[in-house]
Amino acid sequence: MACIFCQIIEKTLPADIVHEDEDILVFKDINPKGSIHVLLIPKAHIATVNDLETHHIPVMGHMFEVVQQLAAKWDMVQQGYRLTVNVGRGGGQEVDHIHMHMVSGWTRRS
Ligand code: 5GP
Ligand code: ZN
Repeated sequence: MACIFCQIIEKTLPADIVHEDEDILVFKDINPKGSIHVLLIPKAHIATVNDLETHHIPVMGHMFEVVQQLAAKWDMVQQGYRLTVNVGRGGGQEVDHIHMHMVSGWTRRS
């Protein structure tokens, strides 16, 4: 059984997708911690930051390009926003498919 984020990539699990390209997917978090809360994920299943390999670096770098595009599109550049990558259970990671949280106007620490 594919992980839940792989199911979202495969479109077998619905999600509110805000950006998709060849390498990454961005969708709204089901339990938002701010007025904007999206998750950026690589389409490749990589469990955690600890599992990143050299050939993943371009995709992870591209993720920041998309962050910049979304920040501009949603007028978040001036105000700022929060990027978080939780790693492992002790780091608060609940879904074992690497993801970056992008949160604006958060109401509590995530
Ligand atoms: P983590 O705690 O692993 O860093 O973050 C996982 C995030 O995934 C949480 O913020 C949680 O709300 C979100 N999430 C979990 N399951 C789903 C789901 O099925 N759909 C969406 N859109 N978000 C999910
Ligand atoms: Zn996955």
